[in-house]
This record gives sequence, structure tokens and C-alpha cells, in this order.
Amino acid sequence: NSEVPDAKNLRVKLVLLGDSGVGKSCIVLRFVRGQFDPTSKVTVGASFLSQTIALQDSTTVKFEIWDTAGQERYAALAPLYYRGAGVAVIVYDITSPESFAKAQYWVKELQKHGSPGIVMALVGNKADLQEKREVQVQDGIDCAEKNGMFFIETSAKTADNINQLFEEIAKRLPRPSS
Ligand code: GDP
Ligand code: MG
Repeated sequence: NSEVPDAKNLRVKLVLLGDSGVGKSCIVLRFVRGQFDPTSKVTVGASFLSQTIALQDSTTVKFEIWDTAGQERYAALAPLYYRGAGVAVIVYDITSPESFAKAQYWVKELQKHGSPGIVMALVGNKADLQEKREVQVQDGIDCAEKNGMFFIETSAKTADNINQLFEEIAKRLPRPSS
């Protein structure tokens, strides 16, 4: 049964954290459905999507992606959301320094309370809005390096680096010993 996780077929819970409006839902929809809907409204209720990717070493990784309607804003609810997550994708908007500050808050929060060995990625989204950029690439690199995270800038609008984001996460997942 290909649904059963083993050393070659991994399955992992992935959560997205970050300010409302940074593009978390759009990143998920771009990755899972290959779509970008600029008119989409704020996510209503928590949603759950899954997507499987194959790596070059023929490993497959099934991401079980939890998107929220912003419940993570309520500090007391956040741990319920990221409990058991093997991956945390912390997203900010490169045009918003406030969202970058919030991302740094989430990094600390996950380091303190996330599952041991959680793989964390820092994502600067809306990279298509270069003329409105207020967070420099180097700031993202520095923050990620300091915290031992993977860093990438993406655009859910143009699809730039979206697949790369999930591939790089997949490569960094701990492999169960068989
Ligand atoms: P969430 O609250 O973090 O889930 O954010 P959403 O995914 O709902 O996106 C918020 C807004 O940002 C929407 O109006 C999107 O169309 C827009 N958006 C999301 N990703 C991008 C992107 O990569 N580039 C641009 N220009 N806009 C984006
Ligand atoms: Mg959303």
C-alpha cells in the first residue's frame, strides 16, 4: 500500500505561520493546484490540502498541509495548530517590515514549543513586487542563518520558487532508518 509511510514514502504535517495577508493560502494553492486567484478572499475556516512530490532519489513525500483562517493569531490556539508538525513554513511579505518582525516572533515560538527536529523554512513572499520591497534579501538570509533555517523568496503570483520551496523542504526531512 503506497499510502503507508516508510523510508521511501514519507508523510509529514506542514503548517504555515505568518501575518494575515502575506500570501500563505496563495502559496498553498499555487503549489497544490497550480493556480493564483487574485480575487480570493481570506480563508474561511481551517482548510486541509495534501500534495505528494517525488525526489530524484525516488523518495516520495506527502505533505499534509494545514492552512488556517488566522487562528494562529490567538496565541493560545497556535500550539494546537502546529502540534505534531514536522515542517513549519514561516512566511512574510517582502513589502512589509511588520510581517518580517512577526516572522521572527514565530521562529522563536517554534524553537521553544515546536516538535523536536521540526524543519523550518523562512519564506519572503510577493517577490514580484520588487519596486515596493522593504525587506532586503540579506535580512532574510541573516535571520535564517542565525536560526539554522532554510530561506527562499517566492511569488505565489508568478509561481517563482514555489516548487523549489517544497522540494528543498523535502530534501531536509529526517529519513526514518529502515
Ligand atoms: P494569507 O492571509 O497569508 O493566507 O494571505 P492570502 O494568501 O490570502 O493572500 C493575501 C493577498 O496577497 C491576496 O490579495 C493575494 O492575492 C495577495 N498575494 C498573495 N501572494 C502574492 C504574491 O506572491 N504576489 C502578489 N503580488 N500578491 C500576492
Ligand atoms: Mg489564508
